[in-house]
Amino acid sequence: MAALLRGSVGGVTVRIGRRTALLLAAGLVTGCATQGDEGNGAVATPGTTVSEGLLARIASELNAAVEGRDATRFARVFAAEAATTGRIIAANALALGVWRAEPNDGGLRIRTRAGTEPGRGSAEVTLNVDEAGRVTSIAERLGDHAVVWLHHAIEVLRQGQVWAIVATGRAASAQSWLAAAAEAQSRLIGEDWSAWRPDPAWDGSLVVELPADLLQFGEPAGIGAYVRLRGSDDDARIVCNPVDRPGLDDTGRAQLLTHEAVHAVTRSPARVAPGWVVEGYAEHGAERAFPDLEASNATLLPTDPDAAALPSDQAVAAGDLAVYALAARAVAGAQERWGRVQTDAWFADWQSPGRPDDAAFTDALRAALRR
Ligand SMILES: [Zn+2]
Repeated sequence: MAALLRGSVGGVTVRIGRRTALLLAAGLVTGCATQGDEGNGAVATPGTTVSEGLLARIASELNAAVEGRDATRFARVFAAEAATTGRIIAANALALGVWRAEPNDGGLRIRTRAGTEPGRGSAEVTLNVDEAGRVTSIAERLGDHAVVWLHHAIEVLRQGQVWAIVATGRAASAQSWLAAAAEAQSRLIGEDWSAWRPDPAWDGSLVVELPADLLQFGEPAGIGAYVRLRGSDDDARIVCNPVDRPGLDDTGRAQLLTHEAVHAVTRSPARVAPGWVVEGYAEHGAERAFPDLEASNATLLPTDPDAAALPSDQAVAAGDLAVYALAARAVAGAQERWGRVQTDAWFADWQSPGRPDDAAFTDALRAALRR
């Protein structure tokens, strides 16, 4: 059962991203895009087949080195040609609160913690080894997004219950993202997330990652951030675009990260629900936190409520701002008709009994458009 559960989010990198666009009149208005199985631009070398026994020995040696805080021992696991890689990962492993490897599906699953954060994230990597069993290369699985600590020296920053894992050289930009994430957290912490996080409840912690460049970000420049969630027992990571677009001000950045933080708190990538629910819920969460965003989104809504329909998954995936505004209104309409507690329960578990059908959700959307 655990494998099945993990497979729902562990087999591919799931991206719940947010597209942003600059609108001349309204300043920065945010939209969003979501896709499940997304490739990326990161360079990954496919690993050769490494025996389970060797993987277990490598994991054990790396873990012992981290526990002993012995970077030299860690680096000895790597062959000469991968010495630089070994040294970088060793230093990063010691900079993180936890770094622990275990054999997994022909490679390693590595669980990490940002400083003192309560949760953990994870990455799955593949290895190449030489005849002596030393690691000659290590990379994310093909199709996965890059993991910031695997490629560049990092530093870990903290503001309250928000942590940032940052490629060095990005510290100035990282402070802006960290502040935005802290702003998002402060606006969401007082809300009721019990339908999504019954036990343990969300404790307010968030982790953002800031890659070194667009290649490592692995998404188009128009995507402001996305959420990565690997395993069913992981906490989500919000990966921020390291290349700031002109016009992205503090408010726009905070709105963007509030939307992403809703995805993170509700563990969107692990949910089964239509796109309008996933993106509409995150966008409506950002609207509740930022009335100005709700007002600017309202200008994008259809003028004829009777002709309005729930956005299709395809339309949501295309990432048009107006589609996200409509999805957010559909979520608002459902909450207004059935109450937030009840709708959250349906959205969190799409198979739960008593959920309205599309016709009923559409009717609630049209009513919300008329208000
Ligand atoms: Zn989104």
